[in-house]
Amino acid sequence: MPNAHATFDRLADHYRQIALLTSIESMLGWDERCLLPPAGGDYRAEQMTLLAGMVHKRLTEPWIGDALGELAGTDLAADPASNTGASIRQWKRQYDRKVKLPQSLVEELARIGVLGQQVWEKARRDDDFAAFAPILTKIIELKRQQADALGYPECRYDALLDDFEPGELTSNVARVLSGLRAELVPLVAEIAASGRTPDVSLVHRPFPVAQQAALGHEVAAKIGFDFARGRLDTTAHPFCSGLGPHDCRITTRYDAAYFNSAFFGILHEAGHAIYEQGLRPDWYGLPPGETVSLGIHESQSRLWENLVGRSRAFWQHFYPVVQTAFPQSLAAVPLDAFYFAINDVRPSLIRVEADEATYNLHILLRFELEQDLLNGDLSVPDLPAAWRDKYREYLGLEPANDAEGVLQDIHWSGGAIGYFATYSLGNLFASQFFAQANRDLGGLAAQFARGEFAPLRTWLAEKIHSQGQCYTAAQLVERVTGKPLSHAPLIAHLREKLGPLYGL
Ligand code: ZN
Repeated sequence: MPNAHATFDRLADHYRQIALLTSIESMLGWDERCLLPPAGGDYRAEQMTLLAGMVHKRLTEPWIGDALGELAGTDLAADPASNTGASIRQWKRQYDRKVKLPQSLVEELARIGVLGQQVWEKARRDDDFAAFAPILTKIIELKRQQADALGYPECRYDALLDDFEPGELTSNVARVLSGLRAELVPLVAEIAASGRTPDVSLVHRPFPVAQQAALGHEVAAKIGFDFARGRLDTTAHPFCSGLGPHDCRITTRYDAAYFNSAFFGILHEAGHAIYEQGLRPDWYGLPPGETVSLGIHESQSRLWENLVGRSRAFWQHFYPVVQTAFPQSLAAVPLDAFYFAINDVRPSLIRVEADEATYNLHILLRFELEQDLLNGDLSVPDLPAAWRDKYREYLGLEPANDAEGVLQDIHWSGGAIGYFATYSLGNLFASQFFAQANRDLGGLAAQFARGEFAPLRTWLAEKIHSQGQCYTAAQLVERVTGKPLSHAPLIAHLREKLGPLYGL
């Protein structure tokens, strides 16, 4: 079928050109967050708006729909997991979503997203939920319209979740998260009742920034971040950004009086970057060479940050290095005391400061509240009270005000509804992948204790990174681990680690 091949190549060239433009956008975005002088902001916004317009125009050109129509039913599309089949499937998905949304709704969502963030920032500063409520009500209404325009398999929330976790169903996420809740709430309560707490002052000591930076570079390289194809810089809000097939950059922030922030932040961002660096460069910008979902992306960062970086075996290898870097703060601290301090579990009010175990409860209650808001079971003015009820029920705590309660996260103000679930999906995917890697590779702990991380990284690259978007996240989990997503591996991991620490 020479015609089909020519059509496919034309589409591939078109999407490669779009990838060139979006990588330039990312480059400008990276520069804006890392280097741009304050007075350069206005012109930078013009540059980025121009590029966004160019990308949008190319993504919605009508000939794409015709070309995809020609390819449907051809051999190239027959196997949805093949490079060509996955490309055609994903291009069609993206194109359909673009043309289904009325331009007026897209513009209104963009406008209210910017405005919502401004209103939210002030409302949080003033601890004034009532000032934020009207625009949040409007955002929810627009998200309902978005869901209705896109269509959905079972419920409106599916359409919003699909933006971040393509193909995932609300009912499936609810199934896994409710299983998690049933076991996690009692686990957190047992830990609180154990009477044991680590001495966390050990990680709140002087940690000179120059040594932290050197150590951060060393550990990122050690786990497999390729500095020939990436950089590590400093920013206020850490992130990872892919700027091309051989250019993936991460950032961190240093706190001279707190060890965990930069060290685990770098492991986290390096985990994201190792995923990007493990994609197939020859398919860059095309579905077989792109990351599959936010949940899978987050699984790669959480895996290195928590499953590896907070394991005792990792610290058997790394603790002497860290003690040498910070002799005045850690030379006299035994490994076990340090290991307990970095695995402190205690209920808290602020999501971004939460530990590995309680973090998922913060996500769970947001996931439930979002659905209630979207369904109309909960009105925006009643949201702060519902928030407090759930914090009391799941974490045994109640915020003293809305600034440290319902106003703490930026996501809803920008219209990102359906996003939070991907954080917990990331933790769940990470544990399930890690348990499988441990079986396949035969005892990861012994390898970590010897400072060997390449076998795990190679396994992840082969099983997950190089698969691109050839499978959905749900299919990928099932292919790699032989089972659908489950809460059991995460609970098993937490019990195995926290049990001995807290005497459970
Ligand atoms: Zn992340």
